Amino acid sequence: MSVENRVNPGTLLSGATTQIFARLNLQPRPVCDIPFWFMPSAILLEDLTKRYRDVSALNGLNLAIAEGSIFGLVGPNGAGKTTAIKILMNILHASSGRAQILDWDSRELAGSAFCSIGYVSENQKLPEWMTVTYFLAYVRNFYPTWDRDLERELVKRFDLPPKRKLKKLSRGMRMKVALASSLAYRPRLLVMDEPFSGLDPLVRDELIECIVQRAGDATLLISSHDLGEMESFATHIGYLEAGQLRFSEELRSLASRFRQVELALGAAPSLPGTLPESWMHLDASSSTVRFIESQYDRDRTESDIVRIFGEAAHATYAPMSLRSIFLAIARDARAAGENRA
Ligand code: ATP
Repeated sequence: MSVENRVNPGTLLSGATTQIFARLNLQPRPVCDIPFWFMPSAILLEDLTKRYRDVSALNGLNLAIAEGSIFGLVGPNGAGKTTAIKILMNILHASSGRAQILDWDSRELAGSAFCSIGYVSENQKLPEWMTVTYFLAYVRNFYPTWDRDLERELVKRFDLPPKRKLKKLSRGMRMKVALASSLAYRPRLLVMDEPFSGLDPLVRDELIECIVQRAGDATLLISSHDLGEMESFATHIGYLEAGQLRFSEELRSLASRFRQVELALGAAPSLPGTLPESWMHLDASSSTVRFIESQYDRDRTESDIVRIFGEAAHATYAPMSLRSIFLAIARDARAAGENRA
């Protein structure tokens, strides 16, 4: 079998990540090889459930987020991302289970605990009548760790108009104000729910640069559908589906285990009854066979191919973007739901 386009696992995604860190002249955060269950967790969700009357939003969610990670929480609409974040921030109470955030049970989160935690949400309410300067001066009073120099730097960096009232700011500017007010006290943990939605690419880029640069060693939890952005700076990805965690792993490991496989055979193959469970979306209707390998390992994948199809004249194993991986998993889940129905 001739195999082309074989790349080192992780090349694509770590390349994107490297670009943004290089532009910022930063070293990527070291991704620790210690298993995550040995690492201290900034966030720990245990068997978390949440029911809204007849809607089951979280169904026994377990999740550990290691300190120092940049954790991207992804999943289809309605998967439960915002609900989980609101429980963490003590805005909502869980129906059962436990949420630990830094040193606190989330139900005890109040007062000074918020000096260690920053929270930015898509629909964040701001006191509309305040100017940018007045707002930052007001918020400053609540945080002993507030860094005036960093505040000035953020206002300049984000090009915020100091004298303009918050109600007169554009969506992107409001997000920048919210972010500045959360970064300036240097929280240990920054939680952001859909921070990029509705923002133009330039503003997104500025926000990401600032988050990565200014967050220092803080742990970041970001829920977003902007997978291109997530891919550029997250160290870990957690995928939520129907209120449960489907997987949580390092971005580089996720990137290395997914491949879009294409095989050129002599003729359309006849398929055996069972195929490897790790193969997704197999199209074997012609002599060109395509599928997604979700547990790519060169030797094992090749031997599975030879066992099932015989020698292929030509084979490619293309790395996949986070967006393509997301689409493959989401389509798989939808098809499984339709089969069950
Ligand atoms: P999206 O990506 O669309 O923002 P999400 O993953 O953040 O979605 P949630 O907003 O947490 O998902 O919603 C999870 C489920 O809970 C959905 O079915 C939603 O309709 C439901 N839900 C959320 N808030 C409420 C509420 N206040 N009352 C009833 N159901 C709710």
